[in-house]
Amino acid sequence: MPNGADGAPARRLILGAHASDAGGIHTAVLRAAAGSMDALQLFTAIPTYYGDKSSIRAERVERFRTALASTSIEPANVVVHAAYVINTATADEQKWSRSAAGLAKELERSTALGVGAVCFHPGAALGGDPDAATARVARAMTLALEKVPGSTRLLVENTAGAGLTVGRTPHEVGAILADIPSQLRSRVGYGLDTCHLFVAGHDIAASAEAQRAVLDAFESACGEPPSFFHLNDSEGAQGSNRDRHALLGKGKIGTEPFRWLLADRRAAGVPLILETPHREEAESEDNLAPDPNDVEMLQLLRSMALSQA
Ligand SMILES: [Zn+2]
Ligand SMILES: [Zn+2]
Repeated sequence: MPNGADGAPARRLILGAHASDAGGIHTAVLRAAAGSMDALQLFTAIPTYYGDKSSIRAERVERFRTALASTSIEPANVVVHAAYVINTATADEQKWSRSAAGLAKELERSTALGVGAVCFHPGAALGGDPDAATARVARAMTLALEKVPGSTRLLVENTAGAGLTVGRTPHEVGAILADIPSQLRSRVGYGLDTCHLFVAGHDIAASAEAQRAVLDAFESACGEPPSFFHLNDSEGAQGSNRDRHALLGKGKIGTEPFRWLLADRRAAGVPLILETPHREEAESEDNLAPDPNDVEMLQLLRSMALSQA
């Protein structure tokens, strides 16, 4: 790691966004690069289906890898977001099997693409014992990792806490990770979504100290810092469990908490990914420009980071 003028390691913020793949997944890479992003998130399949049977064709892999190699984005800073319908916490055996298969297929596609990680929402328990629910999530992760060797990691994303979703608290995320066999432990981790933290009731917007305490609680329960952040403001109020992302500074979190987060040691060196609303009309196959809203949000984040340097 390069050293700053004072000899301390330079803090590197790896900023990016969930990019549109209109025109193929390689176009997500090109849009991110056109927006000077250092990180990128994408879907490899339609996120409202399990995708448990969708293998990835070699030519798609080749186009993606070629596109990525033509940019300065490191593969380690590319995150694939798994399908939303995957629910590995459920006690319904049929749903669990499809979800576990969907997660394994996602890891297979993402490993073929050579990306750093897959992130996924653990799902909802729908009644019963919460410890059994976290154990089911861990079992699905373990099966996927055993089936698909490689270095692509599987990362649990904290949830907005609606209904009986698992992964709302530091304890729940920590319990999932603790259930992973030790030989696979280095291939799993977790990431935090600021909107989900806020609507799940965590106090990330009151003060820098309060926010730090939330991150500390996750770090201590999980035994490691987050492996990514999703930077989203929130339409819903704190504790509302409403998962509606807003542009930074345009929601109930506001601008300042993002400034605090960028200054936290845990924000450096991991993908910081916007999942804020796009100007959809700009998204077509023939347009390889980054989304204009993403460009604005990245400018805002970079100016915050600069003012701290
Ligand atoms: Zn997210
Ligand atoms: Zn969300």
